[in-house]
Amino acid sequence: MSKSNPSEKPTDTIVKVAVPVPLRKSFDYLAKQRLEPGTRVLVPFAGRTVVGVVVAGEPAQIAVALKPIKQVIDSCAVLSMSILNLAIWAANYYHHPIGEVIQTALPVKLRSAQPLANPFLVKHFYRQNDLGQLDLGKLLGRAPKQKQVFDKIPVGRGITLQQLLKQLVELNRSSITISLKNLAEKGMITAAKSAQQSSDSSGINNSSKIEFSGTLSHEQKSAIDKITQAKGAFSTLLLRGITGSGKTEVYLHAAESVISENQQVLVLVPEIALTPQLVERFCARLGGGVSVVHSAMSNNERYKTWCMANQGKACVVLGTRSAIFTPLKNPGLIIVDEEHDLSFKQRDGFRYHARDLAIKRGSLEHVPVVLGSATPSMETVQNVTLGRYCELRLSNRIGAAVLPKVELVDTRSHKAIDGLTLPLIERIADRLKSGDQTILYVNRRGYAPVAQCGACGWQATCNRCDAYLTYHESFGKLLCHYCGTSCSANHTCPQCAAGLFYSGLGTQRVEKALKQRFPHSRILRFDRDELTTQSALEEALNKIKLLEIDIVVGTQLISKGHDFPNVTLVGILLPDQSLYSIDFRAPEQLFQQLIQVSGRAGRGESQGNVIIQTAHPENHYYQLIHQYDFAGFYKICAQERAQLGFPPFGYLAMVRAESTVKAAGQRFLGFARDQANNLIRQNNLSGLHIMDPVPSPMEKLSDRFRAQLLVKSTSRKSLGQLMSAWMPALEAAKESRKIRWSLDIDPMELY
Ligand code: ADP
Ligand code: ZN
Ligand code: ZN
Repeated sequence: MSKSNPSEKPTDTIVKVAVPVPLRKSFDYLAKQRLEPGTRVLVPFAGRTVVGVVVAGEPAQIAVALKPIKQVIDSCAVLSMSILNLAIWAANYYHHPIGEVIQTALPVKLRSAQPLANPFLVKHFYRQNDLGQLDLGKLLGRAPKQKQVFDKIPVGRGITLQQLLKQLVELNRSSITISLKNLAEKGMITAAKSAQQSSDSSGINNSSKIEFSGTLSHEQKSAIDKITQAKGAFSTLLLRGITGSGKTEVYLHAAESVISENQQVLVLVPEIALTPQLVERFCARLGGGVSVVHSAMSNNERYKTWCMANQGKACVVLGTRSAIFTPLKNPGLIIVDEEHDLSFKQRDGFRYHARDLAIKRGSLEHVPVVLGSATPSMETVQNVTLGRYCELRLSNRIGAAVLPKVELVDTRSHKAIDGLTLPLIERIADRLKSGDQTILYVNRRGYAPVAQCGACGWQATCNRCDAYLTYHESFGKLLCHYCGTSCSANHTCPQCAAGLFYSGLGTQRVEKALKQRFPHSRILRFDRDELTTQSALEEALNKIKLLEIDIVVGTQLISKGHDFPNVTLVGILLPDQSLYSIDFRAPEQLFQQLIQVSGRAGRGESQGNVIIQTAHPENHYYQLIHQYDFAGFYKICAQERAQLGFPPFGYLAMVRAESTVKAAGQRFLGFARDQANNLIRQNNLSGLHIMDPVPSPMEKLSDRFRAQLLVKSTSRKSLGQLMSAWMPALEAAKESRKIRWSLDIDPMELY
């Protein structure tokens, strides 16, 4: 494009702008000058003014009169080319509206028309220089608070509100701000923004480092070597290490090596709140440059971290799913810990998988990507088999620790009362005697999942969902776990006034039974009802660590990542539900969950035991878990999935629809199916199979009826081709405007 001659009136150019609307395209506008992709602009759209982002690409031929951009917000691009390219790739891959994808990639602070500000500048208050002529006594004589504040403002130096708050504990925040305002009105002080002396990015880091004091195992050394050799180019490495084998230590060493070359590391973890220990270890070992992104941060703090990373000041960015869009000035390595974890997949709106985006990002930025897990996903294992990923193994636990011994207790011969069989109770009693700790895993909160009338058979169900209400003894309520509806539990049948009984198991029931059985032991319930805040959760983790707890009854909250050296017994109370699940991923998830929970046992010196209570001990999945036969497990799952054409041997997409009108979603999906089949015929696409629309397994949720349409394909390419033709057509059809619908590429949950 030619530079305009300054003597002439500048000619307008056409730019493509991604606008935050649910439409799968970008829009053309007129601009006075060329704009770099990644620059924010204010544009008119459908009668509103919205913030859009300039994207690269050939503008269409002008057929209609284009509207001019209203305002260019930034003087240069705020989104780096690599993040912009990642967003564009993701919009194409997930067939999701580009404007919404870019919106996700932008920090909240930049989603409005605010100009790019330096978040490290803080307001400072200064004394006016020429105060000599003023009569301070007269000005402040009758304003003691203003005098107090004024006295704290140093001569020749500024002070922040935060510092004033600390120095004037006797005054509250509002009286300080009012005093400051009055002082400024009297001309005694001024305010200006300037850099803070010691800026602290996340509030968590500290700059003292703790060195590694152990000796790396042979396997750890070799894994670290392989990762450091991979630096400078894209590759994907699977660090496959059993629980407690020292994976985190490998990440830390690899990160140190990358940081020593002034490059940055991005670490994705499933859930930061659950693993404060991991965050602490990174901060302790890698010092001040670790920036943590977590959900409790304010938008401003997140924006600070974003700037630190973008400017190359943060050596390590540690965050959950959405941290994948954090820009890095000098990217060196991406780590995805617990890569199999479902929380990496966004479940609504823009349904991306952060692990898959991490791999794409690695290839765009030419850096290695390390996926870590004790129980990698089938997709990842298949990629190793195909030679696309390089596998690094840690097959032993650190030190004297060995994997716990797994026993299957048959609940047909050993009856469980309140979830506890006799063999399990005996084991718990042994542990109480020896002073070891026990974890009991019950993947359901509440007291019992079903409340039923013994006389007429009435059952408590949610009137907004197709679901039973769970009885919560601790709140005295019946609660729907799907929509949150609750009513008080009065224990009598509303139909015939007979007494209700509660069947099934939840954490509260097990906790109560244990308290009766072992009245002198210290029992902790570890679930979202008991631990409602982050500090309560951390306190509970500490109590377990400090051996102030004997038995923990927990949901999956307790299953991930924790390192408790004194836990030597893990009881798994109700795993059998997974065997009846219709989801083809259920066996894989059962395997991952059981191995992860079992991994909490025996991480210290003494041998651990795992007891799985099941009515189907002969089931082949349990047998394979019993023997830790990972290879056998993956082989069986692979055979089952290959036969059915499910991932990783086929590709899936799911269209979901929901409506307040029963069957409306299914009707719409019927229309969508016909449209897809026509497109397949017209475009001669092969390997595609559009299933019939069906109601979702739980059809009614929060008063909306849900339906789904599954698309299977033998090839990624033809799936993409179909979607590229189908989604614009579906979006344009009038049928689609009356209903809420969405597309999920690579769905992880089939409902
Ligand atoms: P994973 O992440 O595989 O569960 P960790 O890295 O948390 O394993 O290691 C388990 C425990 O062993 C941690 O307490 C860790 O500090 C310790 N550890 C790891 N590697 C070594 C080593 N080479 N020597 C001594 N201790 C180690
Ligand atoms: Zn009744
Ligand atoms: Zn409900």
